[in-house]
Amino acid sequence: MSNLLSAEQSEYWSELAQTYVWKKKWDNLISGDFHKADVKWFNGAELNITENCLDRHLENRRNKKALIFEPNNPNEPSSFLTYGELHLSVCRFANLLKSKGIKKGDVVCFYMGMTPELMIGILACARIGAIHTVVFGGFSPLSLRGRLEDSKAKLIVTHDGAYRGDKLIQLKAMVDEAIEGLDSVETVLVVKRTNNEINMKGGRDYNYETVIKSAELYCPPTPVEAEHPLFILYTSGSTGKPKGLLHTTAGYMVHVGKSFKDVFQYKENDIFWCTADIGWITGHSYMTYGPLLNGATTVMFEGVPTFPTPARFWEVVEKHKVTHLYTAPTAIRSLEKFGHEIPDKFKMSSLKVLGSVGEPINEEAWHWYHKHVGKEKCPIVDTWWQTETGGILISPMAGLTKLKPAHATLPLPGIEPCLMDENGKEIKDLVASGNLCLKTPWPSLARTIYGDHERFIQTYFSTYPGYYFTGDGAKRDSDGYYRITGRVDDVINVSGHRIGTAEVEDAINEHPSVIESAVVGLPHPIKGQGLYAFVIPVDGVEDSEALEKEIRETVNKIIGPIAKPDLIQVVEGLPKTRSGKIMRRILRKIVENEIESIGDTSTLLNPEIVEKLIAGKKELN
Ligand code: ATP
Ligand code: MG
Repeated sequence: MSNLLSAEQSEYWSELAQTYVWKKKWDNLISGDFHKADVKWFNGAELNITENCLDRHLENRRNKKALIFEPNNPNEPSSFLTYGELHLSVCRFANLLKSKGIKKGDVVCFYMGMTPELMIGILACARIGAIHTVVFGGFSPLSLRGRLEDSKAKLIVTHDGAYRGDKLIQLKAMVDEAIEGLDSVETVLVVKRTNNEINMKGGRDYNYETVIKSAELYCPPTPVEAEHPLFILYTSGSTGKPKGLLHTTAGYMVHVGKSFKDVFQYKENDIFWCTADIGWITGHSYMTYGPLLNGATTVMFEGVPTFPTPARFWEVVEKHKVTHLYTAPTAIRSLEKFGHEIPDKFKMSSLKVLGSVGEPINEEAWHWYHKHVGKEKCPIVDTWWQTETGGILISPMAGLTKLKPAHATLPLPGIEPCLMDENGKEIKDLVASGNLCLKTPWPSLARTIYGDHERFIQTYFSTYPGYYFTGDGAKRDSDGYYRITGRVDDVINVSGHRIGTAEVEDAINEHPSVIESAVVGLPHPIKGQGLYAFVIPVDGVEDSEALEKEIRETVNKIIGPIAKPDLIQVVEGLPKTRSGKIMRRILRKIVENEIESIGDTSTLLNPEIVEKLIAGKKELN
């Protein structure tokens, strides 16, 4: 027992932890101080997470598929690795890392396309207690450099090039640019994928295919302390400078493994496909660690949803008999644009469960996903969590929790969310709306922002002392269900009424001619703040007064007159992060006429859109 958790919570986490393999069990479950952002789990324990992901399955699942790889180009055959093969590949990669001087505690960076070597590589790090940090291959050399300077990675694993849809991304050349003059990087391992021409620097750069040949076949798992760092992962930067969140081994493993099973109701022969890139937390927790901890078969897709056609997702589902599809609202909306006739052509009869993550899923997209992809027979788990939380915290459990579209519903076992009011007090009423916090620690919470613990405390533990503050707003209804209303920064105060952007966007998106929208606050002489809506219409629909009027009417009907946008700008796209989230801070700057302080847009997926938005900006009369 501790004063950090209730007796029931302590018992829950201890019993759960018993289901994993440990080199040495813990002396005490939890210690420290949640107020000070300093909590340690499983004190005194030692383990290796790859033993839990791989070795322990060898007896019964050696020949079971662990990983199915679906390449970018559908004409290239897909491939797979069994648990036995994945174990072997990880051991060899781990020995290769050792031979290049990587030791327990060293940081290894991965800047790659989505191929099996990426998953093998991060597991190889974990095998020897090295810390992996994956930088999404869509980031610029400048962004990569910033993350390398921050993490002090000694070795980088990259590809000669990566395929993404019809593009070839020259990753190795980008690495060369990023590490020019950066002494901390000693070694670059280059995995061949695209065979484009690259420069190799003697004594620094090595061909993976050549050096792996001499790697020994077995590498014993290095036992590490429970709180030994497992990885550093940078957030997408929707709200500012990316934060390098540090996750540690035991706590992360315990919650991620169990939440995978609970949320998705995973069963032994299911085929799980998470479409996220490993460069995001979703790819860490629910493409790699969660499925492997459960001995599941996980699908890795190299490409993009619309290549070579917008039917690709549905083809992959049928080809690999996917039972669980876990994707993001941004992907769903991008496919919705092409019409439901496309998924309607596919039976996708293997599907059992659909998942959503990354943003609030608007009701329209929820229904589209439910009807045209899930054929009205698959529950949708709308999973709320963050890079910081390591694993899912609020979500339905597939088939068990009664669903409500666009609601993340209930906390998982052991998790204790709450809502705070404007005075910093916890709201005790069941039906409420406020800022979402966590009241008690859970094992997979990030331990710090790498190299900046002060920022960690400031960002998450200072707003409401004693609570973890998520930065998100939420509503709770009479069933106790949570609905995430968007980031707190995005709450707009119209004539004294607090309005969440997600809610208004949701209403706007109900209009049949609208695909996607983004709402930000507009400085308003009378109301304080008004609402400015950027709206992407379906193909062929133009801006017109009639359309604007209809959109306002739709919002009026769904939320009320208070939420009617003051200005509506019809646009062809919205500025998005590489993970597909709308960067509202850029939209805010545009609307506030603070163009000079928009800052660096090079990390955007589509930087060219910013100029167009500025050019088309509307003004209050
Ligand atoms: P940064 O912290 O750098 O701004 P980010 O918050 O976009 O980046 P992530 O950790 O990947 O980076 O995203 C977590 C956020 O995504 C949550 O705080 C929440 O705003 C949003 N989110 C994730 N899942 C859901 C969901 N199911 N419903 C609503 N919002 C979600
Ligand atoms: Mg965040």
